[in-house]
Amino acid sequence: MRRMSSSIVQGHFIRPTDHETPKTIGFIQCVGSRSEKRGNRYCSNICCMNTIKDSVLLKDHYPDIDIKVFYMDIRAFGKAFEDLFRRSKEAGVKYIRGLPGEVVEDPKTKNLIISVENTTTGEVEQHELDMLVLSVGVLPRQDGATIQKLLTLSRTADGFFMESHPKLKPVDAPTKGVFFAGCAEFPKDVKDSVTQAGAASARAEIILNADRIKVEAITSMVDKDMCTACEICYRACPYKCIEVDREKKMPAEIIEAACAGCGTCGAECPFGAVTMRHFTDDQIISQIEAILEEDPEEKTVVFACNWCSYQGADFAGISRLQYPPNQRIIRTMCSGRVDEEFVLYAFKLGAPIVLVSGCHFADCHYIDANRWTQKRVEKLWDKLEKMGIRPERLQLEWISAAEGQKFAKVMRELEEMRKKVTKEEIEFTKKALKDLKFKKEKRLAKLTADRAKAEKAAV
Ligand code: SF4
Ligand code: SF4
Ligand code: SF4
Repeated sequence: MRRMSSSIVQGHFIRPTDHETPKTIGFIQCVGSRSEKRGNRYCSNICCMNTIKDSVLLKDHYPDIDIKVFYMDIRAFGKAFEDLFRRSKEAGVKYIRGLPGEVVEDPKTKNLIISVENTTTGEVEQHELDMLVLSVGVLPRQDGATIQKLLTLSRTADGFFMESHPKLKPVDAPTKGVFFAGCAEFPKDVKDSVTQAGAASARAEIILNADRIKVEAITSMVDKDMCTACEICYRACPYKCIEVDREKKMPAEIIEAACAGCGTCGAECPFGAVTMRHFTDDQIISQIEAILEEDPEEKTVVFACNWCSYQGADFAGISRLQYPPNQRIIRTMCSGRVDEEFVLYAFKLGAPIVLVSGCHFADCHYIDANRWTQKRVEKLWDKLEKMGIRPERLQLEWISAAEGQKFAKVMRELEEMRKKVTKEEIEFTKKALKDLKFKKEKRLAKLTADRAKAEKAAV
């Protein structure tokens, strides 16, 4: 932010270079903010009101000072903000709609001359100023990546920390026991920061005062006999709440108090060693079987994550949006839970099209579990292609809870795709996948064979 405080000396507002009180001051708004090409895309939230407040203070102390504010639009949305804006204009501050394109210094007077297109009049104007103040955008802290790694947090593309849910958990981090206040999460003024700090401390109090902490009902557990300590689940877990040691062959153990229940470990474990409570492989496989029991060629299997895509479907429903009735939804908590075996099994049973859908990247309820979904689906596309199965039959879509329209549109598009899948393609796919064995079956078979071998050797 600009440092106007350096221009206040012994209670007087001065120009630092010559210690004179400037007669004309220009403020340029949105410097480095709200720009696709230069600086940040976001609005820094506080600079409009800072400029307005500064202009009122300056006019109170120096009524003859000439103040011009160059802006795109003024964001004065808080309580009494509009009144302060009105006061500033009534005090004589001139608001000129347009951002200056050029600033040069007059070699004689040392004043600054700025050129600006006044977008209200359409005229290009020049203004001579004694002093220019830039409303520079707010940036996230540079050490955010270190804190993110230490606390397994998530950050937006802009570099601010991401809250667990923008509406329902606005001060909670996705990692339990971590809360946000102030500009850690996004640029905020003092009032919003104090409000958020109050909410964050209240949320923390709940944990500190609890005799017992409730853990999620939906968590993962590991069958230690099946586990090979490969560490893949540890790498995939967005919360790093799995203890495993490959060198010591120490099987994986889930720290249940920290497990959020995304199911990514279950989908990534190559040996079927992870069981996801309430969303077990058997439960999901039974749903696939039930959906495709009759007329599978007329059905599209849709895996939808609980927080975004499933809610998007709900929103499409309550908005009475029309789409064909051929889709059958299987809900998982996160798209990260959708094991490649579920997709292949659906194809094996005759599904013409399968959709995997989840939250947009920045919205993932489980930090970045949907990044694993994307990697998995990309690998599956390659796998299908190698097997001679059209990869387009597996679709991946990010649909948020607010995107009922998008959900309906995707469903209509899927139906068009489904109609183009031929009976021959479906039969070919069934044959190609007829020997598909679940990883759990394979691991159990290996364990049984190893045990039999060991027993034989012992005899
Ligand atoms: S608060 Fe005002 S000056 Fe600051 S980025 Fe937003 S619109 Fe621009
Ligand atoms: S369910 Fe998700 S949060 Fe829990 S251990 Fe597995 S990957 Fe980690
Ligand atoms: S991915 Fe599976 S086999 Fe590998 S360590 Fe984790 S639970 Fe064990």
